[in-house]
Amino acid sequence: MPNQNHARTLSFLSFVIPCYNEEATLPFLRSQMEDWLPNLGDRRYEILLVDDGSRDATLALCTKWASDNPCVKVISFSRNFGHQPAVQAGLAYAKGEAVVILDADLQDPLSAIPTMIDRYEEGFDVAYGMRLARQGETVFKKVTAWAFYRLMQRCVYKDLPKDTGDFRLVSRRVVDIVNAMPEGHRFLRGMFAWVGFAQVAVPYVRDERRFGTTKYPLSKMARFAWNAITSFSALPIRLVSLWGAGIGLVGFLICVYAFVAWLSGETVQGWTSLMGLIALLGGSSIMAIGIVGEYVGNIFEEVKNRPKYIVASTVNIDATDKEQRPTELS
Ligand code: UDP
Ligand code: MG
Repeated sequence: MPNQNHARTLSFLSFVIPCYNEEATLPFLRSQMEDWLPNLGDRRYEILLVDDGSRDATLALCTKWASDNPCVKVISFSRNFGHQPAVQAGLAYAKGEAVVILDADLQDPLSAIPTMIDRYEEGFDVAYGMRLARQGETVFKKVTAWAFYRLMQRCVYKDLPKDTGDFRLVSRRVVDIVNAMPEGHRFLRGMFAWVGFAQVAVPYVRDERRFGTTKYPLSKMARFAWNAITSFSALPIRLVSLWGAGIGLVGFLICVYAFVAWLSGETVQGWTSLMGLIALLGGSSIMAIGIVGEYVGNIFEEVKNRPKYIVASTVNIDATDKEQRPTELS
């Protein structure tokens, strides 16, 4: 529960919107935002559009919006770095007392934001959107997402809220803490949960994507899930050890059986079981090496400590801000 003494009013809100090849949806986003912004009343706002190396007219559309409205700011990457780095860049540049993270396709409705603001003003640090239902998404996406959040909660990180994406309102102190967390593989919704403080769910129904297509093909989804699991737990390595112990036990029993068979003179039999065992052991040890290799790879990436993204250009961002950003090129 929030500390009632922390009740406060929000006077400056930042929106962080990652955009990758979103030319089809940006005009819709802009008109919906422009219609919705009066709901903020006297509050100041800024909209940070992060162009994640788009290859279509996304950057041009973002820049046009920014030239028509000084509260709209653009951060453009040198190439496609991915959804999580794009959100992270927005968090690094955001100046508001609280930040709302939003997808460019508005699958997460603006109508949920006033409730998030209310929760913030009651003293909550994180008001995360919780999907009650998903409309217009494939059965495959619904099933994999359902399984992912349950698996993550049960086996990897028990405090990760179910059916919760990056759509949320986050207070300044939580944004500052997450910005200061150095890891390169960033599973942001897990990191927000890990930080703690008073967090609350804001239920909503996820709309279908009206324009453009998903920027999360199966390969990106699988990478995202694997990063989420391996950046938050050593469970896969532990499972491999358990699997190894199981195989070892079976091997021991087979040795006992072989010895008894030898004593009774049946030594030529057993070719099939031997071949089966070799295949099983070969497969499982290669799998084990592979999983350990994934972790070694992660450590390698972290040790290199490369920037999480490279900013090629910005619009409506102060020069003083730029000097503080080590990854800025221009
Ligand atoms: N996105 C991004 N970089 C990427 C992939 C996606 O910035 O490499 C953005 C995308 O433009 C959108 C958000 O991340 O604003 C979520 O993507 P999408 O709606 O395609 O995912 P889905 O809703 O299908 O999971
Ligand atoms: Mg979407």
